[in-house]
Amino acid sequence: MVSGERSTGQNDRVNMSLFQAVKEVVDTREAAEVYGLEVNNSGMAICPFHDDNNPSMKVDERYHCFACQADGDVIDFVANYFELSKIDAVKKIAKDFGIEYQSVGYKKQKSIKQVNRPKPIRKEISIDNEFNKCIRTYNNILCDYRDLLESYKIVFAPNCGDEELHPMFVKAIKKIDFVDYLIDLANGTTEEKIILLMQYESEVKNYGKISDSIRQKIS
Ligand SMILES: [Zn+2]
Repeated sequence: MVSGERSTGQNDRVNMSLFQAVKEVVDTREAAEVYGLEVNNSGMAICPFHDDNNPSMKVDERYHCFACQADGDVIDFVANYFELSKIDAVKKIAKDFGIEYQSVGYKKQKSIKQVNRPKPIRKEISIDNEFNKCIRTYNNILCDYRDLLESYKIVFAPNCGDEELHPMFVKAIKKIDFVDYLIDLANGTTEEKIILLMQYESEVKNYGKISDSIRQKIS
């Protein structure tokens, strides 16, 4: 393999991770609102992709127009809305929402939403001890699992001159990005903690099982 090919591969991996990061951090509704679409309480908006008079587009994590059948995820939305290629759409979202890709993870910086728009009125959520206890448990599981992935990264690290990266090494790198995101949620705002509990319960429990089974094998 010539060195040029290897670096292209690396770019592809970075691009893929950025795709994943953008989709995990920004949903279509958030992007649509930031880029000027008005979304009503039922999550409907005037479709920008056909001559729409009544809101016919449902916007949530994805978008779907019941009139013209326009449909897709946040990247498709931004690509079509601004007539960009998908990769340019990803770059635009990453820039506008301050998603910074780093080789060991990604994080959401201050978004334009936070900079330019009034803060949404936050619903008062009473946080009882059970909630905090659960978040602490999740955070511990995630940190344990992250340590495990870090150890995979070392054990399966490529030797210099290796042609191919070990699949476990690649898997660990990709997974660490995602686990970092979940750890960010666990240490984030109340809303982010709720997202972690509601949307990622099965992932976190699964990581707990994996860490436990590895621990049993070692001891
Ligand atoms: Zn439409």
